Amino acid sequence: MAKKEFKAESKKLMDLMINSIYTNKDIFLRELISNASDAIDKLHYRSLTDKSVKVKKQDFEIFISIDKEARTLTIRDNGCGMTKDELEKNLGTIAKSGSLSFKEEMDPKKNVDIIGQFGVGFYSAFMVSDKIEVKSKAYGSDEAYSWISSGVDGYEIKPCEKDGYGTEIILTIKENTEDVSFDDYLSDYDIQSLIKKYSNYITYPIKMEVEHRHLKEGTENEYETHKEIEVINDMIPLWKRDKNKITEEEYNTFYSDKFFDYEKPLKVIHTNAEGVVSFNSLLYIPSHASYDYYTKQFEKGLQLYSNGVLIMEKCGDLLPDYFSFVKGVVDSPDLSLNISREILQQDKNLKVIAKNIETKIKKELTTMMTEEKENYAKFWESFGMQIKFGIYDSYGMNKDKLVDLLIFPTSKDKDYISLEEYVNQMPEDQTSIYYACGETLDKIDLLPQVERVKEKGYKILYCTEYVDEFALKTLDSYQDKKFVNVSKEDLNLDTEEEKKALEKMNEENKDLFTLMKEEIKDINEVRFTNRLKTHPVCLATVGDISIEMEKALNAMPVDQKVSAQKVLEINSNHKIAKKLQELYKKDKEALKDYTKILYAEARMIEGLPIENPTELASLICEKLSE
Ligand code: ADP
Repeated sequence: MAKKEFKAESKKLMDLMINSIYTNKDIFLRELISNASDAIDKLHYRSLTDKSVKVKKQDFEIFISIDKEARTLTIRDNGCGMTKDELEKNLGTIAKSGSLSFKEEMDPKKNVDIIGQFGVGFYSAFMVSDKIEVKSKAYGSDEAYSWISSGVDGYEIKPCEKDGYGTEIILTIKENTEDVSFDDYLSDYDIQSLIKKYSNYITYPIKMEVEHRHLKEGTENEYETHKEIEVINDMIPLWKRDKNKITEEEYNTFYSDKFFDYEKPLKVIHTNAEGVVSFNSLLYIPSHASYDYYTKQFEKGLQLYSNGVLIMEKCGDLLPDYFSFVKGVVDSPDLSLNISREILQQDKNLKVIAKNIETKIKKELTTMMTEEKENYAKFWESFGMQIKFGIYDSYGMNKDKLVDLLIFPTSKDKDYISLEEYVNQMPEDQTSIYYACGETLDKIDLLPQVERVKEKGYKILYCTEYVDEFALKTLDSYQDKKFVNVSKEDLNLDTEEEKKALEKMNEENKDLFTLMKEEIKDINEVRFTNRLKTHPVCLATVGDISIEMEKALNAMPVDQKVSAQKVLEINSNHKIAKKLQELYKKDKEALKDYTKILYAEARMIEGLPIENPTELASLICEKLSE
């Protein structure tokens, strides 16, 4: 029988695929197993609707065998099989159905994921095979046919011998090359791993003859082997099982097996959604951030299955960035198996699933926050930063969704509080939400500015991460209460009388402050304040940039220097206030030195560097020796 040529575009496409070194070759097995499973599905369905079809569900199987000498890998199924015509029609053309657009998009220079894009499942086997033989007998027929091809140069169909109905695909595996060890596809172990990785949850048993080696009885170092047929796949995925019958242990084992995290997850979210788009999902909130979580290398995403067949290892479109810590799998019958990342992004069903998943995660986190405070605190310590990034990212586009997930410590004992709780606990006279920034909770607790606010009976949100203040600035307010940094110049904590008295005092000492300001260039103003209870000095800021923001922005790898507009505030009730007034009258030179020391103190308290520590040290010693 004469060799037939593939259709022109099929030829081009096949050529491209065979020579594409970028495509993940492993997936050919998944494609063939998935075809086998579809063929069994078809026959199964027929048996349910046509009494003359007599097959038993328990007999269905996919059998994989390896012949190392002959270099063949065989995938056999007892599904519907193909007639001669069907072999011709199905395997003679690549990408028959609806994907003719590939002609336009086929550009060999563009490293396109052809397999994914055009549904050329079967042909992916040419990536690993020199020759493919497909022997098939349609159910109910007694003629079997063989389709043979060595790739681009065409195929041949001829009658053959075959026991039983179904299809047998015999791949003659390529010889090793410098870059690729094709021998792996002839290794029992590697093939088993591929089955487990990509086809574990195919609902029919995938069987292999597995060799076992054990000590010969009565000997100490002599081994014997025996072969046994084993089912390699699990068949029923955990996510499709009844939630009520799954133990915590099963959930956790699945998690550690699949995501290589040996710490128990904080939360399992198992969903079976039926509706316009149906899907099962099994999501996990890890109990800690992986070592690469906050790095560029980290790639978010969920494993995506289409009816039990893995189609994507990490589907990033299923998770928003602010929930990128979530791990898990999604399985939906409403997604096509052969779909590329680019096409998937626009898939309507995928968007519905993603939205649904986001809602689930948020709901679960909200519940955890109110009902399992300890767990939520643990979660927060690992992933709170990501949520806060989410608030200020994209110009605050998602802030409303995330604001109620925020918690902050309100003291050095880490008493976490949500914004809602904060507002509910506000004394009647409090109008703003106060926060303070610093390196650690202890340091914030000792900030001079904190003291007075606390004394008023107001709680303060403690911000130790540089993203905190950016997030709060993005939010601007919560339930109409403005967020106010305790270091901001005017906190408005004083009574009218106190305010007036302070104003008067500042007015009277104007010349003193002018002189002091001359001594320190990078300061906007010097003045007395009421905000400090026992401490002598502090730095306040005017305008939008706080001292913590100055630190954060200057730590970023950009050239421009940012600087907060600082005000040196001196406690009007402290002894030092009087001392300065005295010096102004009696000893202006000493006043200058005092000013330098006070400013250095204020910077130190804020964790800002001292410009010239040596000079400062001498100056202090001089004063001490007087
Ligand atoms: P797809 O599976 O995306 O349709 P393939 O190129 O993998 O594309 O397969 C083409 C067609 O060949 C299938 O649609 C199916 O009709 C037929 N086919 C492939 N493998 C088998 C099999 N094991 N048994 C029966 N038919 C098969």
